[in-house]
Amino acid sequence: MNLADSERMAGTLESVGYVCAEDASDADVIVYNTCSIRDKAEQKVYSALGKQAKRKRSNMGGLKIVLAGCVAAQEGETLLRRVPELDLVMGPHHANRIDQLLEQVDQGSQVMAVEPIQIAEDIAVPRRDSDLTAWVNVIHGCNEKCTYCVVPNTRGVEQSRAPEAIRREMLALGEAGYKEVTLLGQNIDAYGRDLPGSAEDGSGRRAWTFTDLLQHVHDVPGIERIRFATSHPRYFTERLVRACAELPKLCEFFHIPFQSGDNDILREMKRGYTHERYRRIIDNIRRHMPDASVSGDAIVGFPGETEEQFEMTCALVREVGFDRVNTAAYSPRPNTPAAEWPNQIADLVKMDRLNRLNRIVNDVAEERAQRFLNHDVEVLVEGPNPRKSGEAVGRNRQNKLVFFPGDGNSMKGQLVNVHVDMVHAYTLFGHQVA
Ligand code: SAH
Ligand code: SF4
Repeated sequence: MNLADSERMAGTLESVGYVCAEDASDADVIVYNTCSIRDKAEQKVYSALGKQAKRKRSNMGGLKIVLAGCVAAQEGETLLRRVPELDLVMGPHHANRIDQLLEQVDQGSQVMAVEPIQIAEDIAVPRRDSDLTAWVNVIHGCNEKCTYCVVPNTRGVEQSRAPEAIRREMLALGEAGYKEVTLLGQNIDAYGRDLPGSAEDGSGRRAWTFTDLLQHVHDVPGIERIRFATSHPRYFTERLVRACAELPKLCEFFHIPFQSGDNDILREMKRGYTHERYRRIIDNIRRHMPDASVSGDAIVGFPGETEEQFEMTCALVREVGFDRVNTAAYSPRPNTPAAEWPNQIADLVKMDRLNRLNRIVNDVAEERAQRFLNHDVEVLVEGPNPRKSGEAVGRNRQNKLVFFPGDGNSMKGQLVNVHVDMVHAYTLFGHQVA
């Protein structure tokens, strides 16, 4: 989500004549796009800001420093006091207005734009890092109230983009030669709840669900693969699973965070599902798409988590057999309920649990990756392997990196078949077959 916002900011700036500097030390404007999901991410930006503030003081103020993203939304005015050299503090809602905000800075004032606003369609085209695969925002914000999470405070309530706007963006991408789109949302399967109307088939459903959106954009010419992230278990319906299985461009890759394998912890987190319900979703996905990749997020050391409850998370990872799990130690965040609870877990215990869980995650991923050994996989070639000449790299439908001998430059953008000869937890190695 942050990468996509950065690309939107860069595109907006380029559309009014800014050029990307080779090196930060040459730049007239520096934009930090920040994440505040965990404290560590937030602290990183303060140390980076300190350096630029010093540079600004020494070159008599020629440099403009912008702090964008979730730390900006979370800290607001406090930032201006903490780092008076900042010229612009802007929350994620304002990404596509960065040009207007910088104009205000040019008029000589420090500017704050952190209030949640209705996000207008981008006027400029994002400056995308890749010319093959693209992020497309589908829904901004989050309406959940997970007790550990800062996102609803920083990204505000859900705002679904109009289906036509999403389709138009994808049509332009297809025309420009992009082959793969990843649709983005905090809880993408909640798409459409804020759009008006109800379904014409009399089912009582709302006019647009995420499943309807997938069906609506699936035929866009040129786009050969569609992925989406992130899914919330609360909204992952049977209808969505069936649509994913039926739509050929839809890749068999699902990122569905579970956070914990223990029902009491899940309740305290206010996640709105049990581990049994989570397992049923995954079983259902695999019933329709046996090879599907499933990844998730997990938090260890949530307030009050006992050793037994932690073991439930380990058991879920082992039993589901994830392809990947992003793990994190619980980090107390400002203005979130769980941060205030008295039963915080000691850092040493959190680190120990994190290490133990990571070992399980890697073992399970390696085991699960074996299903590709001695099989052919479809690879979208991304280019040459930057670390080994004569080798090409791409991804299979299940989002695993695949390396194989070949000319990555000439094959870039093509779908090729690769026979897998060797398997690591997160990468496959093979040779091209007809
Ligand atoms: N909307 C998505 C996740 C977005 S945040 C969902 O609900 O599934 C990305 C991940 O950051 C979360 O899945 C969670 O695992 C992690 N995270 C969020 N807040 C955290 C905190 N306070 N401490 C540690 N990890 C956190
Ligand atoms: Fe945070 Fe929960 Fe919203 Fe995900 S669903 S962004 S974890 S509040």
